[in-house]
Amino acid sequence: MEFLAIAFAGVLGNICSILSLSTTSTGWFNSLCSPGDISSVLGPHLSSGAHIYLPGSDQFTQATTRWSAYQAPNFTVIVKVATESDVGETVKYANKQNIPFIAVNGGHGAIRSLEDGKTATIGGGALSKQITDSLWTKGKQTVTGICECTSLLGPGLGGGHGILQGRYGLIADQFVSLNVVLANGSLITVGEESDLWWGLKGAGHNFGIITSATTKIYDVPDDGVWSYIRFIYTHDKVEDLYEAINTHLLKNGTQPVDFFSYSLFFNLPSLDPDHSLIAFFILQGGTASVESQYADPFKKMGPVMMKGDHGSFKDIAKWTDMATDSPPSLNNSFFLFEGYSVQGVQSIPSDSTAFPHREANLLVAPVVTYEPGDKKLESEAFQFGETLREIIFQGSDEKEMYSYVNYASGNEGPQSWYGYEPWRLEKLRVLKEKYDPDNRLSFYAPFV
Ligand SMILES: Cc1cc2nc3c(=O)[nH]c(=O)nc-3n(C[C@H](O)[C@H](O)[C@H](O)COP(=O)(O)OP(=O)(O)OC[C@H]3O[C@@H](n4cnc5c(N)ncnc54)[C@H](O)[C@@H]3O)c2cc1C
Repeated sequence: MEFLAIAFAGVLGNICSILSLSTTSTGWFNSLCSPGDISSVLGPHLSSGAHIYLPGSDQFTQATTRWSAYQAPNFTVIVKVATESDVGETVKYANKQNIPFIAVNGGHGAIRSLEDGKTATIGGGALSKQITDSLWTKGKQTVTGICECTSLLGPGLGGGHGILQGRYGLIADQFVSLNVVLANGSLITVGEESDLWWGLKGAGHNFGIITSATTKIYDVPDDGVWSYIRFIYTHDKVEDLYEAINTHLLKNGTQPVDFFSYSLFFNLPSLDPDHSLIAFFILQGGTASVESQYADPFKKMGPVMMKGDHGSFKDIAKWTDMATDSPPSLNNSFFLFEGYSVQGVQSIPSDSTAFPHREANLLVAPVVTYEPGDKKLESEAFQFGETLREIIFQGSDEKEMYSYVNYASGNEGPQSWYGYEPWRLEKLRVLKEKYDPDNRLSFYAPFV
């Protein structure tokens, strides 16, 4: 049984404050402000496994807790759905009452079936860990994000980077068909014969709620062995380090296929009170230790710390502190440079999906953390992040800023998320007019 939480989001405040802007729907919004009525109106249309949660309940809090507090929607009701029909009924109901809604991936979902050893059907709320673990028991794997706590479809609808992308492409490239509840509440199955297929793979958040995805799966090669090595360097090594990364690893997108290298700037006053440190990771598949041709240049550079191990693909989340039970080792701000291998991504024609950044070899992201609840601090943190990003942008040869939609802060704009070639946004807008003319799905990197 799959669960995907749909939260009704009052983006202008809570539903009661929308009420003050509305004259036609007053009766309804009044009733929404009185807990219980939504249950009696929508409840009978939902399956027995569905739940409606109102503010004040533990389940509501759990369903609305986000990794980032920045520009968080102000949820007023959570409908935790259990069937595809629940999603359709909830969307129809929200439309009838003109209530904004958004899918919140509740992190519940399972692999429904492994059809023929080449594809699996995965519930719309499934998390990376559930997918990797279930496939692993059958000797299979697929592309997921590195963090065990993110879903498959949240990243996948915007492209979806993962460690296996060098071999197989993005998460979205694995989709074989998607069951989608459209903005009008109808359920359709979308495959490559549909015009919507193109838009779902890169701008999918704007077109529907995915209740399940049939995706490609692959045999685990080489017993799934992976190894890693992690170095920590002091700030004075920064130029040598990035010169070596470019020369020995990334090599203009020719880093080996089963490979992932990334670095991050972070602060650790106990090691250096005055400067940032740089952590640098190399992960390599198919070998019990990172090959010396890749590791040696970095060993010679004099790291202050070095650590490594080998295990299976499933250990990677633990090594990189991205496992569900990892300690919060990076709870301060950091600056991330991710070097995924790109062969699988770049083997797919750029114009064949709405994901516009196939030619990019690096993902660069400042991650600024702050205590939530203080608007002034939030604004300062945002400005700080913008400044850091601008420094990197100015230092690059790029004329336009390209933003991976799933890492975006929100102010970059549609061209930056979906591509500067005019035909890309035109094509998306034609699809939007056809599949969501009332712009009901408009809260995640919208382009209209
Ligand atoms: C710790 C961390 C690690 C990350 N690692 C990676 C990574 O390795 N690779 C990568 O590409 N990105 C990564 N990201 C970015 C990630 O892609 C985004 O944060 C993404 O939005 C997470 O999706 P979610 O479903 O888990 O979260 P949610 O906040 O629940 O969903 C995000 C968006 O997706 C929509 N959505 C979710 N499920 C569905 C669905 N079934 N149908 C329709 N819409 C849906 C939601 O409505 C929302 O708009 C990471 C983020 C974090 C915080």
